[in-house]
Amino acid sequence: MNQQPSFSQNSFLNKLEQESLSTQRGKTEVLQVNLGRLCNQACEHCHQAAGPGRTEVMSLATLQRLLELLRATPTIQEVDLTGGAPEMNPHFRFFVQEVRKLKLAVTDRCNLTILLEPGQEDTAAWMARNGVKIVASLPCYGEKNVDQQRGKGVFGQSIRVLQQLNQLGYGQGALELNLVYNPGGAFLPGDQANLEAEYRKRLAHDFGIRFNQLFTLTNMPIRRFARFLHKENQYEAYQELLQANFNPKAVEAVMCKSLVSIDYRGQLFDCDFNQAMGFGAYAQDVTQIQSLDLAGQSIAFAEHCFGCTAGAGSSCGGALAVEGAS
Ligand code: SF4
Ligand code: SF4
Repeated sequence: MNQQPSFSQNSFLNKLEQESLSTQRGKTEVLQVNLGRLCNQACEHCHQAAGPGRTEVMSLATLQRLLELLRATPTIQEVDLTGGAPEMNPHFRFFVQEVRKLKLAVTDRCNLTILLEPGQEDTAAWMARNGVKIVASLPCYGEKNVDQQRGKGVFGQSIRVLQQLNQLGYGQGALELNLVYNPGGAFLPGDQANLEAEYRKRLAHDFGIRFNQLFTLTNMPIRRFARFLHKENQYEAYQELLQANFNPKAVEAVMCKSLVSIDYRGQLFDCDFNQAMGFGAYAQDVTQIQSLDLAGQSIAFAEHCFGCTAGAGSSCGGALAVEGAS
């Protein structure tokens, strides 16, 4: 079923073996769906290399098959929508409504600026009415860093949208609004709790913005960020940094233990990163599988996995709440 890594020397697997750590998946609790690579932005670090020129989006037939598989996989509690900009998929609202009918939580990984685009003016209010959780990228509380990483004007637009989301009730009570920080270069994120406190203070003081949690993410050395590292001659140094900070305690909590990822074509992977690399597919099409629970299967780990296990660890839900590096 799952192919093993094709790397001639897989130092991540060697590391797991040395530490006697399991390479197997646990019960699947989260289905992450990549709705396509179409995006209104084209960020430096994007591991999907998404952008306005991309045309790949998930079809209605694939989404309908996923709904059948969700009904057949009762271990799944949550559907996590990502992209590209998930809201740009023409079937976004249909799929969210159908998932909510199954009484599952839905998270939208939102770049914020999409909610100001023509045709998307009522998307935020619609998500609020449908109880969709929002996880939004905001790599800094200052304009310069955000615009450098995500494009000119992105910070100002993001702030406007966060204020609108607060007005809709996001960031307090039942409507969750979580922010995502990722470093602006080849270094590891700082301590998540400290950074969250700083974000909370600055965003409240400067813009009156409230949010629930801040998630810190490590940049993965793949695709667009890998190209950036090669261009800057920092690729090897960054890999060494990740490896030097390997934290065995993070391995048990990596997201691929409990999450599966589907790409826009319906291919099934351990996570969004393997999916972005086209690496370790379990199935070429969702019609070939009967259940999304892959418990006991071997995870397609490889060199980039050091990005999930460096320091405090990294996942779609932020640091893995494990103590410091070994
Ligand atoms: S990082 Fe997010 S917002 Fe930026 S190009 Fe990629 S998908 Fe779009
Ligand atoms: S990149 Fe992270 S989530 Fe994906 S397989 Fe590797 S450790 Fe797991």
